[in-house]
Amino acid sequence: MNLHNSALGRKLLAYSLTFFIFFLTFAPASLKDKPTTTTLTLRDGTKVLCEMPKEPFAVSKEVIVGWIESNACAIRTYYGKFPVPQLALVLRSVEGSSSISYGNTFPGKTLKEPPRITIFVGTNASEEEFRRTWLLAHEMTHLTFPSLEREYHWLEEGIATYVEPIARAMTGLISVESVWYDLQKNIPRGIPDNDSGLDGAHDFGRIYWGGALFCLLADLEIRRVTANKHSFQDALRAIMHREGTINTDRDIAEVLRAGDSAVGTTVLATLYEKMGKAAYKPDMGKLWLSLGVERSGDSVVFRDNAPLASVRRNICSRVASPCSGIIPKR
Ligand SMILES: [Zn+2]
Repeated sequence: MNLHNSALGRKLLAYSLTFFIFFLTFAPASLKDKPTTTTLTLRDGTKVLCEMPKEPFAVSKEVIVGWIESNACAIRTYYGKFPVPQLALVLRSVEGSSSISYGNTFPGKTLKEPPRITIFVGTNASEEEFRRTWLLAHEMTHLTFPSLEREYHWLEEGIATYVEPIARAMTGLISVESVWYDLQKNIPRGIPDNDSGLDGAHDFGRIYWGGALFCLLADLEIRRVTANKHSFQDALRAIMHREGTINTDRDIAEVLRAGDSAVGTTVLATLYEKMGKAAYKPDMGKLWLSLGVERSGDSVVFRDNAPLASVRRNICSRVASPCSGIIPKR
């Protein structure tokens, strides 16, 4: 059970400092109260062992169940299935707060123990806040990918940052425009300002948005090389099926090889050499122009005569979804 202890150890190390800062800031009141645990069975049969504080949140239990279902459905839609049969979901209350502010994901301590997601929820968080937050889908995306050594944390976070909004837009939880707006706005934070690659990166922008840029470029290149037969989504699905989920430790080379072999390319390995081991600064202005994504105030407009407009539509568009009706749309 070495594998799992070491995966857990790395995660603990990665999050301990953030935890400490969080507790200094928010000190969740409910920690003194005895929480209750309910087992929810999602529509696909996934069991969620949901631990909630005794004190109720501002929203009903139905809203919380709908929130879990709709985010699980987004992940299921992107990956073809939910990554694990069982998940422990711990909701911690943050007294007096209106936001859903922080989350983390840990592997199970053994192969069979379910992974655990913890989300910190403000006691005054509204139904709108549950609908708006990206946190649960982000954490659920972490479940789909094996645990890597600490220096490759950017790939784990990059995948969660890139996939989460696409999965939510595919299932109608957010707009397609908001996906491209956030990518265009935030990816500059991931561009290197020195000669270092992504391996061992420790600043937020490089880890999350540098990692997301890797995913976007991988997606575009796989689609180009395979004449749109395959995508990054296919590679990620194959990695989940062949290499395992968060409960398994894997080497980055093995994982990238599995993704490449599933789509019949060497795109992931080649891009890793370029961005993981060295500083890579693509011309983002040119890239957005070719995708037909143009900033317009607090959103974007799409140019359908752009050379890669159809690729952009294929990366992220609404699909007929089994999620509809789980959270009523306003
Ligand atoms: Zn994350």
